[in-house]
This record gives sequence, structure tokens and C-alpha cells, in this order.
Amino acid sequence: MACNMSKRSATEKMLLTLSAIAAVSISPFVYFRWLDGDLVMAFIDAMLILVLMIFFLLVYRTGKVSTAKFLLASALTVAIVAIVAIRGQSHLLWLYPCMIAFYYILPPRPAGIICFVGITLIAIVLFPSTSVLGLFTIIFTLFLTALFSYVIFESYSKTNEKLTLLADIDPLTSAGNRRALDRQLGKILADQQRAASAVSLLLLDLDHFKKINDQNGHAKGDIVLVQLVELIQKYTRSLDDIYRYGGEEFIIIPLQVTLQEAAQLAENLRKLIAETKFANTITLTVSIGVAQYRTGETAESWISRADAALYKAKDGGRNRVITETDLATAVTINNGEVSV
Ligand code: GH3
Ligand code: MG
Ligand code: MG
Repeated sequence: MACNMSKRSATEKMLLTLSAIAAVSISPFVYFRWLDGDLVMAFIDAMLILVLMIFFLLVYRTGKVSTAKFLLASALTVAIVAIVAIRGQSHLLWLYPCMIAFYYILPPRPAGIICFVGITLIAIVLFPSTSVLGLFTIIFTLFLTALFSYVIFESYSKTNEKLTLLADIDPLTSAGNRRALDRQLGKILADQQRAASAVSLLLLDLDHFKKINDQNGHAKGDIVLVQLVELIQKYTRSLDDIYRYGGEEFIIIPLQVTLQEAAQLAENLRKLIAETKFANTITLTVSIGVAQYRTGETAESWISRADAALYKAKDGGRNRVITETDLATAVTINNGEVSV
């Protein structure tokens, strides 16, 4: 449930804490400005607290961090423009650090849009009371701050995307690595907690791969692994995920499919692989264990049931698919037929 603080991401916790501290710190100013007779500033401060409270509730109740950040940045821009309109251009200096902060908390495009709207509003507000040169200086420096921030944060987010992608990919086969697998399993388990549905995984191991390495050399063995992943990726729908679980063991997590559908996919893959020539000359077979997720179990237990099925496939003579609905009742598929 959203109320449990320990289940929140680090970003959510940080945003909740910062917005609570900001709202509490601004509160005395409403009172003091009101005492001073400065009702306009007291009203603006009160509005800011209201926005922070809405922001807090949005993050707390829905976890919609991106929407909340966009709303907060927009509200802050409007507040600064309002203060500049009421109190004059000396208050404009707040907009510079705020614009850089927007690029820090938001993706470059939404941050750029907010900055552009803010600069336009400032130009409209200051136009009647500022000299042409003064207005030009303000708009130009604001524009340069927004532009430089955009360029810096855009390149930073692109590098970040590339690094994240690289960190998730197995360098030999370009399948997902263990890190990516763990994350995907975590996501599936979280989805299952919200709404249970049929989801199965395939654990695939090459048969007698040691022999293939011995007969053809390790380099050819590597080519076989690369081509095998390419073949599987080409065959399965693009949204099916394939991960390198171990040296020549792969996990395939199809889109939400029933156990029978996953078993059929495994059987089709088994046949396709057996009929393919790798590195032009090498033929090989695979054994596949299939297991459906059971409500409440851990990812380890799910994989270990697929592993038990794989073990049975190896034990039964290899080049076959075994589907585990239950450790006691195994489903064997042979010659394209699924039998329970
Ligand atoms: P089994 O049918 O029982 O699975 O027999 P196997 O020979 O495939 O046995 P096992 O799965 O235990 O062997 C894995 C072999 O895969 C051992 C290792 O030399 C080879 N291997 C693991 N990673 C790589 C790799 O990145 N490249 C190459 N070329 N070989 C690898
Ligand atoms: Mg093997
Ligand atoms: Mg193995």
C-alpha cells in the first residue's frame, strides 16, 4: 500500500521530506508578512504552501513522482513571475537557480518548456516598466541559462541512458544480463502482487555444449551463443525478454502467457534450434524447463522449479521440453504435441 514508507523509492522519500520541510519553513513567513501588513506576499507564500501540500499528497497517495515534479516546477515559475510582477525585477534572480533545478529534477524537454513559458511571462510582465536594453539583458541571460542547462542535462541524460543500457546487457550475446533479469523479475513479482495473472518462464540450456567447444574451439562456441540469441530474438515477439542466466543457460520470459502457451513456445524454439546450422556447420540441441509463477513465491523458487524441470529434461535424454505445473506432475512435450 502507498502508505508504507519503507516500500517507497529513494526519490519518493527525498521529495516527501523536502516538500514537508519547505512547507513547514515557509509557514512562519505567512504569519509575519500578515502581521507586517504585507498581505500580497502573505497570500503568495500561502499559495506556495498549498502547492507543496498538493505535491506532497500527490507523491504520497499515487507515487506519481514525474507529474508531481512537473506541477511543482510550473507552480514555482508562476509564483516567481507573480512576485516579479508585484515586487519588481530584483526578485527575478530566483528564477536563475530555479531553472537549473528544473533541469535537475525533470527530463530536459519538460524542463525546457517550463523555462520557455517562464521567460516569456517575465518578458510580458517587465516589458512596460523596463528599458529595451535592460529587458534584452534579462531575457538574454535567462535564455542562455536555460539553453546551457538544456545542453548539459540533455547530454548527461543521454550518457546515462547509454550506461544504463550497457550495464544491463551481456557483452557477448547482447541478451539481458543477470542484473537486468533480477530487475525484470522484481517488476513481475510487484505486478503479480497488485494483480495476479498467468506468467511463465523458460529456462534453456544447451545440450553437450562442452563437446561443441572441444570439437570446434571456444571461439566457435562463442559464435554459436551469439547466433542462438539472435535466432531466439528473431523468433519470439520483440517484447519477449531473453536473459543470459549462466554460461550457456538462458531465461526467456514471454509476455503474459499461460503455461500451455509458454510450453508451446518452448517446443517451437527447441525444434527451430535443432533444425538450424550455427556458424555454418554446427548443429545442436537444447533442453528447456518451463514453470509458471505461483502467487506469493519468490523469484528464486520460481526459477528453481524451472531448473527442476530442466533437470528432468536432461535426465530424460535432452533435446526436450518439460513443463512443471507441480513438482509431482510433470508435463512432457514431444514432437510438437503438448501433453499433460
Ligand atoms: P549438458 O547437456 O548436461 O548441459 O552438457 P554441457 O556440456 O552443456 O554441460 P554444462 O551445461 O555443464 O556445460 C557448460 C559449458 O558451457 C562449459 C563451458 O565450457 C561452456 N561455456 C560457458 N560459457 C561459455 C562461453 O561464454 N563461451 C563458450 N564458448 N563456452 C561457454
Ligand atoms: Mg549445457
Ligand atoms: Mg549449463
